[in-house]
Amino acid sequence: METRKATVACPFCQTLNRVDLTRLEQHPKCGNCGKPILLDRPLAVADANFEQVTTDTTVPVVVDFYADWCGPCKMMAPLLDDVAHRRAGQMLVLKLDTDQNPATQQRFDVRGIPTLIVAAAKKSRVASARSRPPSWKRF
Ligand SMILES: [Zn+2]
Repeated sequence: METRKATVACPFCQTLNRVDLTRLEQHPKCGNCGKPILLDRPLAVADANFEQVTTDTTVPVVVDFYADWCGPCKMMAPLLDDVAHRRAGQMLVLKLDTDQNPATQQRFDVRGIPTLIVAAAKKSRVASARSRPPSWKRF
């Protein structure tokens, strides 16, 4: 059976939640604060949870490296909103504020923003309990 799962941080309380993407119509809620977790828009990711979010997600992941002062990033934002909206449940769109999260920026050697990196979906096999970090591509 196909499993599509994502681990995302609640936008309100930052608690990491495991979400079943095949059941988005049931309106997943944060296990901690009970607020809805909306996956039809880009979700913030940070140095602290980047590894866990991207490793525990079984659909393709797009990460937008941006900063608040970056004009081209603002121009690209509606495009990412649109992708997240149209592909909700099929891919995960994340945004990372490079001012707040220098470690991830350095790890991917991001020198200019906006930069998008994409990780292809991993084969999720129930038998192999170990999750592997995704392989990243840069655009
Ligand atoms: Zn919450």
